[in-house]
Amino acid sequence: MSELTALSLTAAAAGIRAKKFSSVELVDAHLSAITAQNPALNAFITVTAEAAQQAAKAYDAKPTPDALLPGLPIGMKDLFCTKGVRTTAASKILGNFIPPYESTVSANLAAAGAITVGKLNLDEFAMGSANITSAYGAVKNPLKANDDTALCRVPGGSSGGSASAVKAGLCLAATGTDTGGSIRQPAAFCGIVGLKPTYGRCSRWGIIAFASSLDQAGPMTRTVTDAALMLRAMAGFDPKDSTSVDTPVPDYTAAIGQSIKGKRIGLPKEYRLDGTAPAVLAMWDKAAQALREAGAEVVEVSLPHTAYALPTYYIIAPAEASSNLARYDGVRFGARVDGDTLDHLYENTRAAGFGAEVQRRILIGTYVLSAGYYDAYYLKAQKVRALIARDFSEAFKSVDALLTPTAPTEAFRLGEEPKDPVAMYLNDVFTIPASLAGVPALALPGGYADNGLPLGVQLIGNHWQEETLLSIGAVLEQAL
Ligand code: GLN
Repeated sequence: MSELTALSLTAAAAGIRAKKFSSVELVDAHLSAITAQNPALNAFITVTAEAAQQAAKAYDAKPTPDALLPGLPIGMKDLFCTKGVRTTAASKILGNFIPPYESTVSANLAAAGAITVGKLNLDEFAMGSANITSAYGAVKNPLKANDDTALCRVPGGSSGGSASAVKAGLCLAATGTDTGGSIRQPAAFCGIVGLKPTYGRCSRWGIIAFASSLDQAGPMTRTVTDAALMLRAMAGFDPKDSTSVDTPVPDYTAAIGQSIKGKRIGLPKEYRLDGTAPAVLAMWDKAAQALREAGAEVVEVSLPHTAYALPTYYIIAPAEASSNLARYDGVRFGARVDGDTLDHLYENTRAAGFGAEVQRRILIGTYVLSAGYYDAYYLKAQKVRALIARDFSEAFKSVDALLTPTAPTEAFRLGEEPKDPVAMYLNDVFTIPASLAGVPALALPGGYADNGLPLGVQLIGNHWQEETLLSIGAVLEQAL
């Protein structure tokens, strides 16, 4: 990384304000890094170099130093609609889709001074845990294990392009979206910080929908302070999203540096799962010890319905996806493959436009919503979801936050991923419960596997307790 691309978002903001460098210099440094490294990483689907350079020039001509992200280059997951800029959701079916509108989160970031350098690769429609389902090719993790001779590790998914680009210094920070772990698991695999806010904190308007009752946007950054800064710029009430909540956005950065003395941290005993790598369990213990040393009280808690979270998610998320993705019919959006009847046009378009994983989810979702199975699967899953949410509210009566691993292993090799889709779904075992409950969760680097790859640790908080997570997260970041 160069001097400019190695800066944290916070340090870059300070540098711009102190006129140590210009926005043009900062943006150009990142565009050069993209030119040099993106061919190998495939983190960006679209690079918006010219627009970014123009925006940087405009910033330098009329600086707004009080802005949260003054002239700072960031990356945008290609699930956020950007006006006039192709937005693909990493699917063939949206390969030619140029939105006529801007998502609220990307508009908020631009209003805060951020400059988007491009659209980041992801799993198709955000369905996946390894960024291998993208129609635009797999993304590579910029990190190598001790015994890897070339880049060959997956970055996690679905926000794999975001995690890879942030780690490699192709942008100072990036947006991600998280439906069941898509911000946190790639953050863990690439050794960065990812925050899934409380459901309703960031507007979903203009984000291509996967599972609407779970989808939430959040920041992916290299430090906890940067996550606080990004979230402040992204969040806020939006009347265009009926599930957006009208509660003020605090200055999240004020949470950094606060003492955690006397905070109670819970270790959910159901998260001690078979199949979790021993190094992950050791990292988890070490993180708990670090919190004790910082004055927190660490206790064991129980989330009794944890074992049902994964099956519940894999009913609810596909059900909502099958309904959300019904709109891609070849008539209104994106690619079309003609047929001799309207039905054939739909079938041909959807068969050619959607990849295998997306088709699998649509089939599962349509099945669990069909007459006769709705009560047995979908309705039952909704009831179990309520029990999982209740587990969390019970736990938060006695603790301020929960500490868990983020993913059961370190990043696996591309081509050595679990071949059975259900085994792949196990990657989300630690992240999905918080998504079902709608509570915020922060993933940060917690340690290393024996092969030198990073491992993620996760803090889960009660609704609207992002500040608690950030203050504890900052303490852990220092200690680990
Ligand atoms: N990996 C999970 C899935 O495939 C979660 C994805 C996400 O959070 N968007 O559904």
